[in-house]
Order: sequence, then structure tokens, then C-alpha cells
Amino acid sequence: MNAFQLGLFLIVAAAAPPLLAQQDDGKLRVIAFGAHPDDCDSRAGGIAAKYAALGHHVKFVSVTNGDAGHQSEGGGALASRRRKEAQEAGRRIGIEYETLDNHDGELVPSLDVRRQIIRKIREWRADIVFSPRPNDYHPDHRYTGVLVQDAAYMVVVPNICPDTPALRRNPVFFYFQDNFQRPNPFRPDVAVGIDDVTEKKLQMQDAHTSQMYEWLPYVAGTLDQVPKDPKARLEWLRKGRSRTVSEAVQQTLRKWYGAQASSIRSAEAFELCEYGRRPSDDEVRKLFPFFPIQ
Ligand SMILES: [Zn+2]
Repeated sequence: MNAFQLGLFLIVAAAAPPLLAQQDDGKLRVIAFGAHPDDCDSRAGGIAAKYAALGHHVKFVSVTNGDAGHQSEGGGALASRRRKEAQEAGRRIGIEYETLDNHDGELVPSLDVRRQIIRKIREWRADIVFSPRPNDYHPDHRYTGVLVQDAAYMVVVPNICPDTPALRRNPVFFYFQDNFQRPNPFRPDVAVGIDDVTEKKLQMQDAHTSQMYEWLPYVAGTLDQVPKDPKARLEWLRKGRSRTVSEAVQQTLRKWYGAQASSIRSAEAFELCEYGRRPSDDEVRKLFPFFPIQ
């Protein structure tokens, strides 16, 4: 190496550490897509907090900016408010939270938005991708599911979005849990106990003031029941957000936790998508490093 090459090497090395550190730290890289800037939180806030606590890299992406989700606010001002709420929610559990600038209530599975998703998955160099299933009551949720499915193979094709290097290995794609029955009900392939992080998850949801204490109670007709005091309304949120574990999820917990499953009170469950990499049970244990050694 001559002096010129050495100089060049030092310049490149100085610019490279963040990327190299990311690539070589041996931690998982997890990305989740929701349609709105609070969707990922309710479906995967618990495991996100668990991954983050173990030093893994987690990013939540809201595909729309949420600019329709309020009874008396809207447009750019609401989008800005919700972007800040999402960033605060992410900060509270130690993950990144990005809000894309697509209009709320108007999402369609266009080529433009597909490219946005492909780039986000590649830039994050994701090992695991989470999204809603494409059969959901809300068109934005439905099309977020379709958009992530549409990206599930294209992320490895170099000629697609050549400005962002393609992944060499397809991630594993999972769907969030939902209760929709048609055309087929959710199948819990993996379930993770989240009793240790329910408080963190609640704190994350509490950050979405415009939704938890304004818009969602307005839609439900319970706005007059929301306490004004921050502590009291957090308790109100806690009561409204508690969920029991279904029999199907209980069975899945038994598969992954064995005898310990019976003590789990709250869980998040996920269905494996057919389109990405198909992991063995051993790989699932590496991707979800929360299960007891068996
Ligand atoms: Zn939503």
C-alpha cells in the first residue's frame, strides 16, 4: 500500500465505521410496517421492546403519515403531530420510528409505494419483516399487507430500485395477529410471551396522544370517559388494552415455551408469510431469541 492508497484507505475507513459496525455486530435486524403511526405498536410493540433490550436493531415504519386520523385536526399539522408522537413512542423503547409521507386513508398498492417499501427493507438490511395480513377491514392496512408482499421477492432483485443495493438473502416475513376470518383466519406460527414488557408497550402506546386519548375514543363513542389527568388516563388505557391469550395462541406458546407456556398471561403472535425465506424451527429460535433452550 503506497501513501496515496493508505490515504484513500483511511478516508474510506473513517467514513465506513457506522456501516461496518452495523453489519458485523451479529445482532438481528428487524423492520415492521404498519399503515398508520401507531399500528406496529399494538401488534409488535412487545417483541420490539424485547429485541431492543437485547441490543437488536428494530425499526417501525408507518406507510402513511396519519393525516386523516382525527376528528378535529388534519392535513400537514396532524401528520407532523403524529410523526412526533411516533418518534417519541420509538424513543421510549429504544427503536427507530419512521413515518412515510403517503396520505392516510388513500393508500393504494402502487409501484411508487412498493419501491419505497423495497428501499426501506434493503436500507435496514432486514433479517425479519413484519406487516399486516392483506385481509383487514381498513384499506390502508390491507394495502400495506399487499405492498410488503409485493416487496417480499423484489428486495433481492438488483435491477429493481438499483439505487439501493439489493439484499443477497431474502428476509423472513411474518404477519401481525388479527381476528379476521375470511378468506382464512390468522394462523399463529410463532407466539412470544410479553409479560416482562407490557409496561413498556403501554408507555409506547401512551405516546400516541392524538390516537389513544382523542381519535380512537371519539370513534368508539367513549371520548367523555377519557380522564384528563395523565396518570389516570394511562390507567384507563391499561384497562382498555389488556388482551387475553386465545386457545390457538396458547397452543403455539406450548410449542415454543414447553411447560413455561402456562404461566404466560400476555403474548404477541405472528404468522409466517409464504413469500420470503422459509425458516426451519431452529432458525425461528434464532430469529426470536426469547424461547427457553430445549
Ligand atoms: Zn391503522
